[in-house]
Amino acid sequence: MSSYSFLSKDELAELQKELQAKYAKFKSMNLKLDMSRGKPGSDQLDLCMGMLDVLDSNSILKSQNGLDCRNYGMLDGLPETKELFAELLGLRPEQIIVGGNSSLSLMYDMVARSMTHPTVEGMKPWGKYEKIKFLCPAPGYDRHFAVTEFFGVELVTVPMTPAGPDMDVVEELVSSDETIKGIWCVPKYSNPQGYTYSDETVRRFAALRPAAKDFRIFWDNAYCVHDLYEEGDKLLNIMEECEKLGSEDMVYIFASTSKISFSGAGVAVIGASEHNIARIKKQMTIQTIGYDKINMLRHALYFKNADGVRAHMKKHAAILAPKFQLVDDMFTSHLEGKGIAKWTKPKGGYFIAVDVLPGCAKRVVALCKEAGVIMTSAGATFPYGKDPEDRNIRIAPTYPPMEELKQAAELFCLCVELVSVEKLLAEKTSNE
Ligand code: PMP
Repeated sequence: MSSYSFLSKDELAELQKELQAKYAKFKSMNLKLDMSRGKPGSDQLDLCMGMLDVLDSNSILKSQNGLDCRNYGMLDGLPETKELFAELLGLRPEQIIVGGNSSLSLMYDMVARSMTHPTVEGMKPWGKYEKIKFLCPAPGYDRHFAVTEFFGVELVTVPMTPAGPDMDVVEELVSSDETIKGIWCVPKYSNPQGYTYSDETVRRFAALRPAAKDFRIFWDNAYCVHDLYEEGDKLLNIMEECEKLGSEDMVYIFASTSKISFSGAGVAVIGASEHNIARIKKQMTIQTIGYDKINMLRHALYFKNADGVRAHMKKHAAILAPKFQLVDDMFTSHLEGKGIAKWTKPKGGYFIAVDVLPGCAKRVVALCKEAGVIMTSAGATFPYGKDPEDRNIRIAPTYPPMEELKQAAELFCLCVELVSVEKLLAEKTSNE
C-alpha cells in the first residue's frame, strides 16, 4: 500500500466513504472498552495470590532483625525488603527506604518536602524561590507532570529520543538556569514509548553540573524488571555512575511492586545516597512512624530475593508479550506503509506510543470514545496536557483481555485511517 498522501482527491473521498461505513458498523456494536490506563489485567493479579497465603494468624510476624512487624518502628522498612530492592535496583540496602504502597506518593512527598524545606543545607526551600522549573521529557508520564504542576512549578518540555531525553538540551538548560530544580525520568521502558535510556544518556545525567546546587533527578525506575522477552533492555546503574563522579546526591530513585505484585497494594521504595537517605528520614519521621511492615514482610517472604521477582516477572511477560504483539501486528497490517502513523516497539513496560499526523490525535481519541473505546486523552503525555503538534497517543494494551484488545486496536486503526483521510482530503480541497 502506498502512502495516502499520493492519493487523488477522488480516491481519498472514496476511501473516506468506505472507512465511514466501517466506523458506523463499529458504533453499532456498542463496545465498552478501556485502553486508557496502564493497569495489569486480572490474570496478572491472579499470579500473586499466593502472597496472601504466606502469612496467617499463626505466623510469627517478626522481621529478620527480630522486630515485631505488627508494631510501630523501622521508618525505613524491613531489612529483608530493603535487601530485596537493593538487589533489584543495584543499590546498597543503606541506600533504600521502603515506603508505603505507591511510588507516586513517595515522589509527591519528595517534591512537597523540597518545596517547604531545603534540599541542600543552607539553601532556600524550592517554594521560597520566586519561580522554579522542572524539565519534563515529553512524551512522558502525565502524573509526573501533574505533581509538579500542582505545586506551581513551571514545566519545561524536553524532547525525547529513543536514547532518552535530548541530553544536549538538558545539559544546556540545567547548566545555565538556576531556577531549574529537577527533571522527571522514566529511564527503562519509558512511559509511553517504552524507550530505555542509553549508557551514554545515563553517564551524561551522572555528569550534569547544574547551575542550581539543589537540582535533583527524579529517576522513576517503575519498569526496572518489566521485560516482555528473554532479551530485555539493559539500563546502566545511575547510582554507580554518580558515585564515580561524586554526584550521588543529585539523584532520587523510585520504584514499586505495583506492577509486580498488586497495583495499589504493593510496596514502594526510594533509593538515594546515604547522605540523602539520612535527610529524608529526618523529614519523613514527622509524617509517619512507619509504613506497612506486614506487607513488606509478605513481599520478602513471597519473592525471597531478586531472582524470585525475576521468575515472577516471566509469568507476567507470558501474559503481556502476546498483547503487545497483537497490537503491533494490527498496526502493521492496518497502518504500515500508509504514511499516517508511526509507533514504538518496546521490549518491556506497559505502553506503546503512536504518532499520528499532526493535528489528528485529539480527533482520533474522540472518535474511539464515540464508538465505545476509551483511550488516554490526547495531549496527556505532554506538560499541561497540551501536545503542541496534537499527534501523540498512548496505547495501554495490558488491561483488556485479548479479544477485547483486538477489537479496540482494530477500531483505533480505523479511526487513525479515517481522521488521516479527512485531513488529507481537507488539505487537497484547500489547495484547489
Ligand atoms: N511511575 C510510572 C512511570 C508509572 O507508569 C506508574 C504507573 N502507571 C507509576 C509510577 C505509579 O506507580 P505506583 O503505583 O508505585 O504509585
